[in-house]
Amino acid sequence: MKRVYIQTYGCQMNLYDTGKLRALLGKDGYVRTDDMQEADVIIVNTCSVREKPEHKLHSFLGDALKIKRTTQRDITVAVAGCVAQQEGQKLLERYRELDLVFGPDAVPRVRELVAAALPVAGRPAGQVLDTEFLDLETYAFATDLDPDADGKVGAFVTIQKGCDNKCTFCIVPATRGLEVSRPSDQILVEVRALVDQGVREITLIGQNVNSYGLKVPGERNFAALLYAVAEVQGVERIRYTTSHPRDMGQDVVQAYRDLPQLTSHIHLPVQSGSNRVLRRMKRFYTREGYCSLIDDLRGARPDLVLTTDFIVGFPGETEADFEETMTLMDEVSFQGSFSFKFSPRPDTPALRLLEDGVPPEVAQARLVRLQSRQREISLAAHQAMEGRIFEVLVEGPSKHDEGVICGRTSSFKMINFPGDESLQGKTVPVTVIRGFTNSLRGEMFVS
Ligand code: SAM
Ligand code: SF4
Repeated sequence: MKRVYIQTYGCQMNLYDTGKLRALLGKDGYVRTDDMQEADVIIVNTCSVREKPEHKLHSFLGDALKIKRTTQRDITVAVAGCVAQQEGQKLLERYRELDLVFGPDAVPRVRELVAAALPVAGRPAGQVLDTEFLDLETYAFATDLDPDADGKVGAFVTIQKGCDNKCTFCIVPATRGLEVSRPSDQILVEVRALVDQGVREITLIGQNVNSYGLKVPGERNFAALLYAVAEVQGVERIRYTTSHPRDMGQDVVQAYRDLPQLTSHIHLPVQSGSNRVLRRMKRFYTREGYCSLIDDLRGARPDLVLTTDFIVGFPGETEADFEETMTLMDEVSFQGSFSFKFSPRPDTPALRLLEDGVPPEVAQARLVRLQSRQREISLAAHQAMEGRIFEVLVEGPSKHDEGVICGRTSSFKMINFPGDESLQGKTVPVTVIRGFTNSLRGEMFVS
């Protein structure tokens, strides 16, 4: 039996790509192992959006190549994902024992690539590199489903790759290329296949889902795609990420009135509450425009919960700019956020602004303040849910407590409550007993 170990760093895109790697290599007889020591193929799927996840790659590779060096078996070690795309040949030169480097667009070609990197008659095949960007036609693997998704309640479905925006801090357009929308018919085939496998909740993923389909004559736009997915029998919930505030149109707002399957949660990255910083980031919306969009969305779906991403310490961010981010947190009442210190990335336009850089200790202090306020807002929101009943889609048994199962509300809140595994995949009413900062505890409501 051949075994593959895959370590994934980064966003939902990378998790989705890892699922496809498993599905495709499965066709050649590779089964998943969670023990790197027994793997025949070791792949690290990397993220370069900030410096920290990029660092993890190097320590991981140190371990993987040590195993390759010290075992008798032939082991193929590969780097995939955004760092692979960005560093390419440099990685192969730095790590002479590395067999294969391939970018995100080469995922559909993984079977050929691994085969090309395998030793022949005990002799290394030579290093293999593939950082070509794909055209649309080759991006078709709708029915190659992640074997690990089997039995799961929720699944990701990629609807587009790459990004046409040029946010000045962001490396994604360089590592994932220009935006390409997957044909919607292909997306719907994948959704149907997932539902047949038992999936109830579909999360559509892309870097800027709101611009889905706009470049392709005759293609559905994002709102039309939402309606089409909602029509698939068995799709109980639809989520999506990531939305760009500039591109979200009134047709998507309308979908919140029309589609009960669309969940009451949107992750809408704002990055900063200061118009001056937003301009320097080239985000092309203002604080006022962002808030007015949220008013529209809440008009369509009054119980809508908002979460967001923030970057603090962007070059030139003053104390006054940061205060505007803090006041925006309260104005919108985000119930959760991912927040990051600005991390300079290779070849991004923000590097030119670095002479205005915010000292690391100032950025750190801002991050601590923001995260502490976020915890207060989240806790208060979760405590306000106590005593109320919510429809919860059960995901499965809790990892920590026996006899406890967990699931999510439509607003994406994780709730743990006593119950039986047989409820997995079912939607049940649950009363919130206690709200914590990041989760809820409840009990099933029996009328
Ligand atoms: N496409 C999404 C959007 O437009 O919001 C974001 C994609 S990015 C993978 C996820 C988040 O990482 C961003 O929203 C941003 O907050 C953060 N991020 C991206 N580049 C960054 C950088 N150079 N430094 C710090 N955070 C960064
Ligand atoms: Fe990066 Fe901006 Fe594109 Fe998001 S929209 S992936 S932040 S360039």
